[in-house]
Amino acid sequence: MAVTDTIAHLIQNIERRLDSADVSPERASSGEVVSLGDGIAKVAGLRNVAYNEVIEFESGAKGVALNLEEYSVGVVVFSGFSTISEGMVAKSTGRILEIPVGESLLGRVVDPLGNPIDGGPAITPAAFYPAERVASGVMSRKSVHEPLQTGIKAIDALVPIGRGQRELIIGDRQTGKTQVAIDTILNQKGQNMKCIYVAIGQKDSKVVALAEELKRAGAMEYTTIVSAGSSAPASMQWLAPYAGCAMGEYFMLKGEHALIIYDDLSKHANAYREMSLLLRRPPGREAYPGDVFYLHSRLLERSAKLNDELGAGSLTALPIIETQAGDISAYVPTNVISITDGQIFLESNLFNAGIKPAINVGSSVSRVGGSAQTKAMKKVAGTLKLSLAQFRELEAFSQFASDLDADTRRDLERWKRMVEILKQDVYSPVPFEKQVAIIYAGTNGYLDAVAVDRIGEFEKTLYLELDREQIILASIREKREMTDEAKAGLETMIKKTLELFV
Ligand code: ATP
Ligand code: MG
Repeated sequence: MAVTDTIAHLIQNIERRLDSADVSPERASSGEVVSLGDGIAKVAGLRNVAYNEVIEFESGAKGVALNLEEYSVGVVVFSGFSTISEGMVAKSTGRILEIPVGESLLGRVVDPLGNPIDGGPAITPAAFYPAERVASGVMSRKSVHEPLQTGIKAIDALVPIGRGQRELIIGDRQTGKTQVAIDTILNQKGQNMKCIYVAIGQKDSKVVALAEELKRAGAMEYTTIVSAGSSAPASMQWLAPYAGCAMGEYFMLKGEHALIIYDDLSKHANAYREMSLLLRRPPGREAYPGDVFYLHSRLLERSAKLNDELGAGSLTALPIIETQAGDISAYVPTNVISITDGQIFLESNLFNAGIKPAINVGSSVSRVGGSAQTKAMKKVAGTLKLSLAQFRELEAFSQFASDLDADTRRDLERWKRMVEILKQDVYSPVPFEKQVAIIYAGTNGYLDAVAVDRIGEFEKTLYLELDREQIILASIREKREMTDEAKAGLETMIKKTLELFV
């Protein structure tokens, strides 16, 4: 009897409290921190919170609501985590996370919230853009048709990239992935391109060195570096690419061209995995949360070539993925391969054999860039890719068969020279008209008589000769194709240079 009385009393009590509960909007938008740990705060009592909404804590700390559960909201805290304590009041703000964007960010190194971390003055942004935005729809796009010259011969000739394309750079540790990205940025000088380099989970010293290098080359003027270093919380590393993307979208939506590099999305997936486990989301394959595909697809889909009505701007993305022992079939690599328009596959074997950039020609592909390649390049590089892929097999085979027939031997010798031509040093992008010239010389057999170890020297000499006779280069550059006169002029120059080498 006594027990039923107590229960009845309790129910009454609860009903009374519910009746008198304050459900004013003011009250509904504030809650209380119930638990804390590793950059995540659980807040109870918040109602009407949206996914990705900014939550402000009494201490001034800020975060976004990522887990909306029945009794609490999981908030990922970006700043001031150490100032939060249990029981503290947290308020929803009705805003989603916004990132400062604009020209004033060029030349700067910033964190994912747009705060300068280069010791420079405060930044006055042109606008604030949402960190997450739904990608441009199909109708607002146009197919990729303008080239984005990387200045790297092997890429521009074999896996050309177009403005608005997403091309993955994939390979093991220390295979030159970052270098491809840096050289591409250097080559954008005077090309009407803004660059955003997003460093995720990298050592701060590396990012500083990179900024210095870009400054020295005069490339920082048109570049923003967004960095969430290896010591930054997982939440910042997770946010970094979205923030960088918002900065790039600003230029694209203005009808300009921007290039964004995500270095790298493997670390991004790891940061997201860490965050998700802390939010107690169930782990899936390889312990990654189930939505890791969506994590990257909604990021990369934001790169686009817009149609003319929308100003014809573009945002080209070069995401980077690190593989383990060349395994491109792991979970995150396969995801990103399927989201992008092709991949540049870098290999340790090639790198160690001195073939740098260590691009595996057979496994690299560009699905849309071909339509953006200049006519001149298309013509000279036409069959190069297939033959180069064959060359590697032939070379292995030739070690056993000493008596190859004359034709095969000639092909083999020629491709040895082509491999040599495609080698390239760091920080030395080659303009496309010079690339056309040297590849023309190679594919047409002019170099067959030059010793393999002197090809590099020949290349430099040819460039010097061509610089002296600007008219040939200018013609290829301006017309974007090789006229008969240019071809004749080029052949004369090649022959003249050859005299020094045979
Ligand atoms: P990580 O996995 O550590 O990020 P990564 O794949 O990004 O490495 P890089 O840092 O770009 O590789 O390059 C590794 C080293 O190889 C650097 O010292 C770089 O200077 C050198 N390197 C890269 N490309 C070339 C090249 N074409 N010629 C000579 N050296 C190169
Ligand atoms: Mg790297």
